[in-house]
Amino acid sequence: MKEGNVIIIGRPNVGKSTFLNNIIGQKIAITSPKPQTTRFPIQAVYSDKQGNIIFLDTPGVFGKATDLLSKKINRKTLDALNDKIDLLLYMIDHTRRRDFEEARVLGIVRKIKKPKILAINKIDKKEPTYLPQYKFLFSEFDDVHLISALKGKHIKPLIDAIFSFLPEVKESSIKKEIEDKPVPVLNINSKIYLQELIREKIFLQTRQEVPYTTTVFVEKIENKPDVLYIKARIITTSDRYKRMLIGKGGRKIKEIGRIARKELELATGQKVFLELEVETNPHWQEEFL
Ligand code: GDP
Ligand code: MG
Repeated sequence: MKEGNVIIIGRPNVGKSTFLNNIIGQKIAITSPKPQTTRFPIQAVYSDKQGNIIFLDTPGVFGKATDLLSKKINRKTLDALNDKIDLLLYMIDHTRRRDFEEARVLGIVRKIKKPKILAINKIDKKEPTYLPQYKFLFSEFDDVHLISALKGKHIKPLIDAIFSFLPEVKESSIKKEIEDKPVPVLNINSKIYLQELIREKIFLQTRQEVPYTTTVFVEKIENKPDVLYIKARIITTSDRYKRMLIGKGGRKIKEIGRIARKELELATGQKVFLELEVETNPHWQEEFL
C-alpha cells in the first residue's frame, strides 16, 4: 500500500479547493474550535485500492511576503513543509496571465526539495489561454498534467501519477476511524480553516495593503440544528483600513461575508450564518507574533 502527504500550492482562484472537493466528493465537518495543533488546517484524504493520499490545502498562507507576519508564516511553513510532505502539486490556471504573485508562488515551489507535479487546470476553458507563458515550467517538474477540476477531466491519470511518487508503507498512519468509513473524509482543524478561509476572501476583496494589516480571529462556532453559526473578528491596524474593510454602507464587509459563507455552505452542505465584526488594534501584529 502507498501513502503520503501531498501539498497543493497555487495562487488564489486557480482551483485548489475545487480539485479537492471533486476528488474527495464529501462534505467537510466544521465542529467546535480545537486548540491549534497543526499548521495544515485542511487535510483531505483520498483513498483507493492503491493506498491513501493525504492532501494539504493552504488557503491564505501564501500572501505577499511584504510584511513581517507573512514572512514569518512563509519561513516556518517552508521548514515544516520540507519535513512533512512527500510530493508537491503546483496548480496553475492557464486562463490567467503570469504575474508577480505567480512568480512568488513559484519561488516557494522552487525552495521545496521534493518530487513535484505541475497541474494545469481549467482546460475545459479554451480561451483566453496564456499557456505559452507557462511552458518554461514544464522542464522543472517531474510530471505535467492538464486537468479540469471543475468538470472532473483527466483526474485519474493525475491521481495515478501522484501514487507513483509516494512511498510504500506497511501500515497506514491514518486513524482507524477514518479507515472504517467507506468514503474518504476530511480532517479539519475548524478554527484555522475558517480563519484562513475568511483571510483568503479579504485578500481577494480588498486592495493591496489591507490584507497584510489584517488578521482574523474566530470566536465562536456553534452547530445549531438547522444552521452552522460562526462569529469572527477581523482585526486591522488602523481606522483607515477598518473603513476600507467595511466599505460604503457596509458593502465591502457584506461581500466578504457573502463569498466566505457561500464557500462554507458548499463545503459543509449546511446553511451557514457568518457574523463578522471589524475592529482596530494598531498592535495586533506585535501581540500575535
Ligand atoms: P482556489 O482559490 O485555488 O482554492 O480556487 P477555487 O477552487 O476556489 O476556484 C476558483 C474559481 O475557479 C471557482 O469559481 C471555480 O469554480 C473555478 N474553477 C476551478 N476549477 C475550474 C476548472 O477546471 N474549470 C473552470 N472553468 N473553472 C474552474
Ligand atoms: Mg481555496
